Amino acid sequence: MLPASLKSDFPILGKSVNDRPLVYLDNAATSQKPRAVLDASRHYYEAVNSNIHRGTHFLARAATAAHEAARETIATHIHAASSDEVIFTSGATEGVNLVSDILSLSAGDEILISTLEHHANIVPWQMLAQRSGAKLVVIPCDENGVLDQNAFTNLLSEKTKIFALTWISNAFGTVNPVREMTAAAKKYGAIVLIDAAQAIPHLNIDVRDLGADFLVFSGHKVYAPTGIGVLWGKLDLLKSLPPWKGGGEMIKQVTFEGTTYNDPPFKYEAGTPNIEGAIALAAALEYVKSIGIDAIHDHEQKLIAAAAEALSEIPGIRLYGPSDRIGALSFAIEGVHHYDLGTLIDQMGVAVRTGHHCCQPLMSRFGITGTTRASFALYNTMEDIESLATAVKKAAAMLR
Ligand code: PMP
Repeated sequence: MLPASLKSDFPILGKSVNDRPLVYLDNAATSQKPRAVLDASRHYYEAVNSNIHRGTHFLARAATAAHEAARETIATHIHAASSDEVIFTSGATEGVNLVSDILSLSAGDEILISTLEHHANIVPWQMLAQRSGAKLVVIPCDENGVLDQNAFTNLLSEKTKIFALTWISNAFGTVNPVREMTAAAKKYGAIVLIDAAQAIPHLNIDVRDLGADFLVFSGHKVYAPTGIGVLWGKLDLLKSLPPWKGGGEMIKQVTFEGTTYNDPPFKYEAGTPNIEGAIALAAALEYVKSIGIDAIHDHEQKLIAAAAEALSEIPGIRLYGPSDRIGALSFAIEGVHHYDLGTLIDQMGVAVRTGHHCCQPLMSRFGITGTTRASFALYNTMEDIESLATAVKKAAAMLR
């Protein structure tokens, strides 16, 4: 287990809620920020702030250097072949929208996604399908929230032009065999996008090993601020695909007659970016590295297993997702509404998420409107799990 003292790296975790020490178990929605990240943001504005890329003065050069060093750190963290493959976005949602906007399809083409997807990896593809006449095809899942691999194999065909898949389900914690599924889709020549929004805080990500064309994630799920994220893409694709938003920075030459576009990554970064966010994201990934992603993963797996075991004792409880879930533990208690449960345990100082988790089609598949979800981070402790279990038991008894 990681030392409980790590909690003190995160100032907000010292807070009391309803006169109880805060137990923060809503990490799949967003993570808390360590002092190293807060300091990086503050230092940027106190000592470096300037617009980047076109300035000749001292601060412009310092800000540009810090921004591009952040890109290098991120490229190294995800094992990208080049930092030119790392495009800064506002988050995973923007990354998927960027890709779905620059790809063009024809009537009869298919976009393959899965039942486990977050709305961010459904709606942009639906919009692309609507404007192109392509068809959205969905891989079903079983009662454990695990994708049906036979169905997946059968759904793949020459018509599959895009395959977009979440690595880890934010709702159920299901881990998809992304490498194998990517390889299968690649046999049909599909463009593959992996949604790593929930994978980035828990797993080592090696984009070269993965074999996909695109991968997206948000900084705020991995201890960085909101409003910054990454789209990683294979360089040859980024070079050959059309630009997205037009504006400053994404150009080489502009005349009123026409424009030539910049090379990736700048081709996809029109306008002044979130400079401080990029720097803070690099600081967050350095923080993760200093602890070690494998140590974080081991720690969190012990927590989630302990939580599953403790909650299983509650009469009428159903845990969703497979037992080898990562990051998130979703559950429902017979006769208890998830919203009431979440509200009551909040009064006991325990923060969890309730509802559909932006996965309404997945909830429909299970005939439910939502679940209660506890989700875990490196700073959570066995004490947090005990608090969760005690609070849920107490609340369930009161609400039934
Ligand atoms: N995909 C998954 C699996 C997610 O969990 C989330 C955030 N809940 C997103 C995409 C969207 O991330 P963001 O809202 O940061 O763009």
